[in-house]
Amino acid sequence: MDLQTIMEMDSKYYMNTFGSRMPVCFEYGKGIDLYDSKGRRYHDFLGGIAVNALGYGHPALTKAVTAQAEKLIHCSNLYYIESQALLAKKLAENSCADRFFFANSGAEANEGAIKLARIYFKKNGMPGKFGIITLKNSFHGRTLTTVAATGQEKYQKPYAPLIPGFRHVPINDIETLKAAISDETCAVMMELVQGESGVHPLDTEYVKTVRKLCDENGLLLIIDEIQTGVGRTGKLFAYEHYGVEPDIFTLAKALAGGIPIGAVGAKEHIASAFGPGDHGSTFGGNPLACSAALAVLDTIFEEHLTENAANMGNYLKDQLTMLAEKYSIIGSVRGLGLMVGIQLSQEKAVELKGKLFDKGYLVGSVGSSVIRLLPPLIISKTDIDSFITALDEVLASL
Ligand code: PLP
Repeated sequence: MDLQTIMEMDSKYYMNTFGSRMPVCFEYGKGIDLYDSKGRRYHDFLGGIAVNALGYGHPALTKAVTAQAEKLIHCSNLYYIESQALLAKKLAENSCADRFFFANSGAEANEGAIKLARIYFKKNGMPGKFGIITLKNSFHGRTLTTVAATGQEKYQKPYAPLIPGFRHVPINDIETLKAAISDETCAVMMELVQGESGVHPLDTEYVKTVRKLCDENGLLLIIDEIQTGVGRTGKLFAYEHYGVEPDIFTLAKALAGGIPIGAVGAKEHIASAFGPGDHGSTFGGNPLACSAALAVLDTIFEEHLTENAANMGNYLKDQLTMLAEKYSIIGSVRGLGLMVGIQLSQEKAVELKGKLFDKGYLVGSVGSSVIRLLPPLIISKTDIDSFITALDEVLASL
């Protein structure tokens, strides 16, 4: 089907939540590249918004998904699921959490984390503790509860009245956070690098102090690793950069390389607050998603992709910083590993994104002045060099 027909059908039949999309429909992918129906190649520096960690068509993931699909795609959680148990074990052995629950998306994982925090206090005789402090400009998802947790008015306003219990404080401001803690507070929830609002890493000292404050006040620390987790920042989980351990953390996006999955991990004494019937999911933890996630994690370990994310992230940032010396429109470059934000000094992010698209490069824009890069973790120096050459040419033409 030609692109024009697809666009017309989309505009007539699909709910218009995504506005006008980039004018392309991809047919297949290989490595970090996507191809449209005419065979035109695009180098993907957005990685399905941090999902396609192994890029496209990685044989290990394709093989695992195909083999599992041939055997069993779904079976109910009324029965034991081998890949679910194996995935929970693998994640527990490689993280600070002892137990996991699997959902189908990031928002759903965060819902699970919030429910777990609340039930933990209820079951420990503190039913009045339900409040959660989150950060301004955070993003935690699109369900009603995670919209309330998200510290951005634009996602909340149309859905008021919001689910009660959330307070938002500015990032890296410990005094305001301290002042926001009340008898009702049960947890602090945050991303360590705020992705959707433009790639803002939190200060290490701030995060360490938040951990301390949580301990002193008997609060749980929930870290949303949905975008930062699974190697993206150059460590398997971003909390490892900060020298803190969360009580609960959430994963999604890259975990199964594109097959929908979400995960909530928690320390034993907290995880055990969920008893039979307290939480659940029809699809969550199904054999297909868990087999895919096992293949993704094994590949990340075998191919040293976390180390690659650290090295390539540094290389990408160095190259961008060199371009910043040549073009004043690049105000600053920030990020952690392969989660990179280019702050422009002019409101030209959408134009820049469009010009890169015309040259066959996919990037994201946040608002009018941030370019966001989240390439697959398999990216090489050659890929980065070709991107920098393209960006150089586009910046020269602006
Ligand atoms: N939390 C963070 C940090 C995210 O970046 C996202 C998605 O961008 C979500 C939660 C929501 O994930 P999902 O879209 O899978 O529900």
